[in-house]
Order: sequence, then structure tokens, then C-alpha cells
Amino acid sequence: MIRETEYTRARFAQTSDRLRESVYSAVRPVDELLVAGPIDRISWADAQELDYRPAELGERFGPLWATFWFRLRATVPAEWRGRRVDLLFASNSEAALWDDGRIVQGLNTGGGGERPDAMLTASAEPGPLERQVELACSGLFGAMSSPAELRRCEIAVFDPAAWKLHHDFETLRALEVATNDPAWSGVLRDELHRFCNERDPSILDALYEHGNAAHAHDLAAIGHAHIDTAWLWPLAETYRKMLRTFSSQLRYMDDYPEYRFACSQAQQYAWIKERNADLWTELCAKVAQGQFVPVGGTWVEPDCNLPSGESLVRQFLHGQRFFEREFGRRCREFWSPDAFGYTGQLPQIMREAGITRFLTQKLSWNRFNKPEHHTFTWRGDDGSEVLAHFPPADTYNSEANVPDLLKVQRDFLDHDHSRTSLLVFGYGDGGGGPTRAMLETLRRARDLQGLPRTAQRTSEEFFDALEAEPGERPIVVGELYFEYHRGVYTSQGRTKRGNRRGEQALHDAEFLSCVRGNDARAELDRLWKLLLLQQFHDILPGSSIRLVYEDAERDLAEIEAGANALCGEGDTPVNTIGFPRREVVAGEFVEAPAYGIGRVVEADDSVRVEGLTLENAHLRATLAEDGTLLSLVDKATGRESLKAPGNRLELYDDDPVAWDAWDIDPYTLETGRPAAPADSHTVASSPLRVEIAFVRSLGEASSLVQTVRLDAESRRLEFRTTVDWRESHTLLKVCFPLDVHAPNATYEMPFGYAERPTHYSTSWDRARYEVPGHRWADLSEHGFGVALLSDSKYGWSCYGHELRLSLLRSTKSPDPEADMGEHEFAYALLPHRGGWREAGIVAEAARFNVPMRLTAPPPVEWRRACGSACRSPRLAGRMRSRTTASRWKSRAARSRSPTGLTSS
Ligand SMILES: [Zn+2]
Repeated sequence: MIRETEYTRARFAQTSDRLRESVYSAVRPVDELLVAGPIDRISWADAQELDYRPAELGERFGPLWATFWFRLRATVPAEWRGRRVDLLFASNSEAALWDDGRIVQGLNTGGGGERPDAMLTASAEPGPLERQVELACSGLFGAMSSPAELRRCEIAVFDPAAWKLHHDFETLRALEVATNDPAWSGVLRDELHRFCNERDPSILDALYEHGNAAHAHDLAAIGHAHIDTAWLWPLAETYRKMLRTFSSQLRYMDDYPEYRFACSQAQQYAWIKERNADLWTELCAKVAQGQFVPVGGTWVEPDCNLPSGESLVRQFLHGQRFFEREFGRRCREFWSPDAFGYTGQLPQIMREAGITRFLTQKLSWNRFNKPEHHTFTWRGDDGSEVLAHFPPADTYNSEANVPDLLKVQRDFLDHDHSRTSLLVFGYGDGGGGPTRAMLETLRRARDLQGLPRTAQRTSEEFFDALEAEPGERPIVVGELYFEYHRGVYTSQGRTKRGNRRGEQALHDAEFLSCVRGNDARAELDRLWKLLLLQQFHDILPGSSIRLVYEDAERDLAEIEAGANALCGEGDTPVNTIGFPRREVVAGEFVEAPAYGIGRVVEADDSVRVEGLTLENAHLRATLAEDGTLLSLVDKATGRESLKAPGNRLELYDDDPVAWDAWDIDPYTLETGRPAAPADSHTVASSPLRVEIAFVRSLGEASSLVQTVRLDAESRRLEFRTTVDWRESHTLLKVCFPLDVHAPNATYEMPFGYAERPTHYSTSWDRARYEVPGHRWADLSEHGFGVALLSDSKYGWSCYGHELRLSLLRSTKSPDPEADMGEHEFAYALLPHRGGWREAGIVAEAARFNVPMRLTAPPPVEWRRACGSACRSPRLAGRMRSRTTASRWKSRAARSRSPTGLTSS
């Protein structure tokens, strides 16, 4: 006997190839192959009207995003009768097989996740057959490295015994190499060697008799295709990715009754329902059988830092409502494997939506500190708890191969208190989901020595088992900050601004429709769903291609216009926020109660300007000719806000080593340099408002006009800015060195806030060098603090006493035009007595973000209710109508409530 391990393994590889080749025992070319195109994304019916011409093997197809339709005719020979016959079609593209108007399955090849085979018939009848193939000139991740090319188009006889033998051998071969048990590896090597010599399948069968150890880890596997709702392709292509993926997976469910496939995002189901009735019927049948498993509970898988609290609630409201209506039940887990960090308010929002379980794996990407647990209790900001699981394979695209199964067992962090974990397997995006080979491996991993005890389970079955485990579970408190992709708080500023404005406009539209008794539910539903779509975790964060932002900017404009149309126009100022206000509106001073009608009043104060010093009853601000802010004194406390000149516009090198639109690298914050001083300024003043406008050039080719504004009675100094932005790999920040000493800064987050350190003492502190925040951030010490308000920016940093807001980036990938051109945004500085709570910073940020709306006078009965509340002299003496007030209040509350799922 002569043995040498590497030589033996090389022979195993060769044997594996030979076994794979024998799966198709006979192959024939097609008789005729015709092609039509290039054309746009059209229906199968429209494709029948095209002019077809002969296609050749080796022919190339393009350009990117074009579509071609093929017609193939083949003859099944008499000797293939009763056999399974497959189509083998390879084209380095995302293709799909169609049969008389029905999509059969995806045929994506050339980009990983190879799927060149599709069953034509399980039991062949001799004679002619005809099919169609739709070829999309794109790859798994959008653009391809080489063009679509027709490489193979044949029909073949499938040999089930050869297929089984190949997978029996292949799984054991992988285990021989990867197992960390040398004794078992030796047995496998010896027996596989004997199989290669003797080709006796019973040798392999005997090896499969070696079952799990008694204490094997319990692994629940679930198929998945993480289809980003838009990313490196436009929304229109996403729909076709879903058709290709779902049709393939539905086929496999017939062949593998144990197969479970999880699919999230109600929006994707809704598209199938609207556009492909046949596939929808098939899908619903598999949902009913428990094989196609709706998960997630949300409309799309949203970003989980940037949408407002209201938006996150609506993600669940519209998601759960869809799942309940279509499938008779709500989801019980929030499925979010890929979002870039998770706000600490999510556990409460999930719970309110009937969800008690949470799945992600994204934090395994953390650069500074890896998560300490895969299974834990996540306690949110209000104390709500959910059961959280991070699949230990650290991916939602596992290939369900032997190395991944072993990795789960080896790397699971919670063996000391838990016996089970989840494996999410299958190619995502254009990869088409799990392959038959993955399902074969999992069949063989049910009970095999050295592997975890593996079974296909639904997400619900897995979490039920996890929840039933006895003993204590670790508790993790507060936001799950993602130590990566910190640029996504700032990239694609116009989309982020559109999202903020859309959120606010829809709030106003709903409020005004309620008080007027207008039934705007259908339109609000439509507009909200369109907004929820934009919050997908690659759209709102700014990590998609140009085509996606062309769609997003158009859709966001439609949302705002639609909401404004519901609000109506007029000349009555209405306060649509829950805080009273006194401020300048259209040149007059207006007072309004919370959710009330404004009336013109005398201001108690006027604003003055002398040189570059602006002053009202609350503030005295002194600007420099260069556009910086030299001093801001809070007159009530006598405190100076600034330690050094503020409103310092700074440019930073912003060329991340990878993930251009996603990342702000740590070094970037060391490269700051002041922008050039302002060239000129102009002053405009009235007793109610003083504005000084500074004009400056910026960076290499950009320009900026900034109007510094102080109003009568106002507690904030505003910086209203327009920029023509033409930079490359440059980050624009504004810095305020505050005369405040505090170890933590506070940032508004959806329906809450997060405190983050202002120092780099530990690796967890350092990792938070750029953080998300919504309408305000605040640095407060005992008795005094300063808040910075923002109308549309989400990226912040605070080191020591220097609070910075990220304004614009200029990344070049995946969108080479990202953020080029016109931008409008505003921020404001607000010093205050006490902490941010006592100072009413939340209210002030709401006032800054949501101006009073000029609209038609609301109905008399609501005006009466409101008039009493604001003690308007005009309405004095009229009794407040409690019934009316409580009616619209409860109406507004109901429409906002995540538990109002049964209302339409
Ligand atoms: Zn994703």
C-alpha cells in the first residue's frame, strides 16, 4: 500500500469531477435557436410580437440593462422516453426560462451562484418541444465584468443515481479535509480511497451510518435569497430578480419536501401579487404548505438609523398588515440581516408590532469590536426586550457547505448557555437563492459524525426552540452601533433631505386630513408605502447606483407634492407639531398653540444688528467677515457658547480604502483644513429678522452661500445654506468648538436619543468616531449646554468639546455623480440653561424642522377647540368642544398606532 495525503486528495477531486460529469448521461443540441432584441424590460406576451433572427453560440449581447428574448426548439428522441430532461443554458447573464407565458426558473450564470440547469420535463415524451429564455444583460451585482455571451444551449438526460452518488461523495470529501477530528478524517480518507478504486456505492452508504455525537450542536438551516430592493441595479430589475429567484425556489420545494425558504419585505410580495398572478398563486400555495416562509414583518428591510420613529413604525404597520391580510398571520421576527446598525428604540417598536425576535448578522463586520454573543436578550431604550440571534456563520449567503457547517459549530459564542443556532443559506441578489447542491448537502448533514445536527426549520420553529432553552441569557442594552459604513449617514444628501421632508409632509397631510374629516387614507397609504420603499437599506443610506437615485429623487418629489396637495394651500398659518410656538411667518409674528391655528400678535422683542453683531432678547451673536461665528452669548445665563470661532467649515480627505459611498475611514478626521474665508457679505434687517448672507468659494470648484439668521424672540441662530458642490473624495463638515465640558454628547434618534462618548478611551469609544443622529445633538454640562439643530443631515462627530455635523460627501462609487450639484440645508446653534430636556430642545428641533404651514382655514369646530386652547381673544368666550378635540386626537393616534393593524 502506498499513501500520500495530497496525492490522495487530488484523486478525490478528479473522481468528484468524473461523477459530476456523469449526471447528464446524454446531451443534444437544440434544433433551432432564435433571438430578438435588444429591448427594454417587457412582458412575455409583448415578447411574442418581436422579430426573431437566428442566434449563434459565442454571440455576445449588450449593452448593460438590455434584454433579449430567445425561442428554442428541440426534439426529444424516442430513447429518452420517461426520463427527466433538463435544459442546459449558460449565457453569463441573468436569464430566465419561460414556458408558454409562465416563468419556470432562473438561469443565472457567470457571476457566482451558477444555475445553468432547469428541468424541462420530469418524464419526457418523444417529439418536439419549444421554450423561451429571457436574457437580462446584467449580473449578480448589476454590471458585469464581461458581456453576456451565449455559451451553451442544449437538452440533456438527467441521471438521478449519478446525481446522488456525486453528492454522497462530495459531502464526505469536504468533511475529510475540513473536520478537526484526525481520527475521523483518517477513516474518511481510507474509505473514500477504497471507493475510488472499487466504485461501490455501499462504501459511501456505510460512512453515512456514522451519526452525530450525543452532544452535537443543533443547527436550524433556512434557505434565503437576500434580494436588495435596489442597489447596483434599479428597482425595475429587482422585480425580475424576484421572478427568477422565487420561480427557481418554488420548483425546488416540489423536489425537496423538507426545504424551507424565508422571504422578507412585504413590498416584494406585493409586486408579485400585482404583476404575476400565476407565480403569486404558486407562492401562496407554498406559503400555506409552510415551505415558502414570510419573515420580517416590515414593508422593506429598512435602514435602522435614518428613518424617523414614525417611519419605522410604519415599516412594521404596513408590513404586518400585508402579511396578515395575504397569509392570515403576522411575522414574529424582525428579519434585518444587512442594515447598517440598529437604533435602541427598535425593541419597543418591534414589540408594539407583535414581534419579539430579531435577526441580523451585520455586526459581525465590526472593525473594532466583534459582538460578544450570537444569542442574547436585546433590551431597548425603554426597557423592552426581544430575543436576538446573529447566525454564527456570519453571513446571510451561506453556501450550506461543509466548511460553513463546521464554522457554525466552531465559532458559535454561546455554547455555554445555548445548544442551537441558525444557518441562513443561498445566494442573494442576482444569485437566485439556494441551489439544489446546497439542499443535497443539508440532507446529508442531518446526522453525520463531525457535523452539527442539521435540519431545515422555519425561522419561527428555530426561535421557538431558542426561546424554550432553559437558563439565563446575556442581556445587551441600547443601540447596536455598527462599526463600519459611517459615511451612509451623509452620502446622497438630496435623498436624505427628501426623506426628511417627505416624513414631515405626510405627518402634516394626515393631521390636516383628520381634522378636516377628509378621507385621505388611500392616498396616504400610497404615499407612505412609496416613502417606506425609499428607506430600503441601500437607497436612503446612499450606497446605490445613479439610476436608483434618479428614481428616488423623482419619487421623493412626488411624495412631498402629494402630501402638500392633501394639506392644501391658503393663508392661514397652522401649527402641525405638538409644541406651541411664537415665530416669524411670512413677514409677520405669529403665535400658535400645539396642533393649533396661528394668529398674528405683537412680538415682545425685536432683533438688532450692528456691524456683524446680531442681538435679540435671548442671544448676542458676533460674526467675523470670513463667515465664522466669533461669539454666541446666551443672555439668560451670561454664558459664552464658544471656546474658539465656530461655524468653521472644514474640508477633509474622504477617500476610503474600500466601500467608497459607505465608509468614512478613521484617518479622514485627521485631515481637516478650513475652507477659504467668505468673499463678501450682505446684511438685510427688519425688527423681526436680521440676515447676513456670506458668499464663499469652497474647495476646488464649489461655491456656497450661507445666510445667518436671527429672528425676534428666537433662541437659535440659524445657518441657511445653499451649495453648488463639485468636489471629489472630499468631506465637508461644520465645526463648533463649544465652551462645554462633558464626557458624553446626546444625539436624537428615532423616537429617542443616544448618548455617545466625546473621547477615545476604549476601543468601543474610538469606534464611535462618526455617529448617526436626527434633528439635534447636544453637549451639556451641569447648568448649561449647547445644542446644534439640523434640518436634513444625519452624520455627527464630537471629540472633546468640538461638535461637528457632516454636510456633504463626494464619493465616486457606486454612483460617480453622487452629491454633485445643488444642495440646500440648514442648521442652527442654540445655547441653553440646564440640560437638553429642561431646555426643550426636542420642541425647538421640531419647530426648526417643520415651519408653520399656510393652508386653508380648518373647519369651524376644530378652530373652536383650538381657539380655547390658545386663548385667542377673537375666540374668547367660546367653549372648547371636548368631543371634537378628543375625536381628532384619537383618530390621529389610531392612524399612528402600530397595533391598529386591522384598520385600512
Ligand atoms: Zn442588503
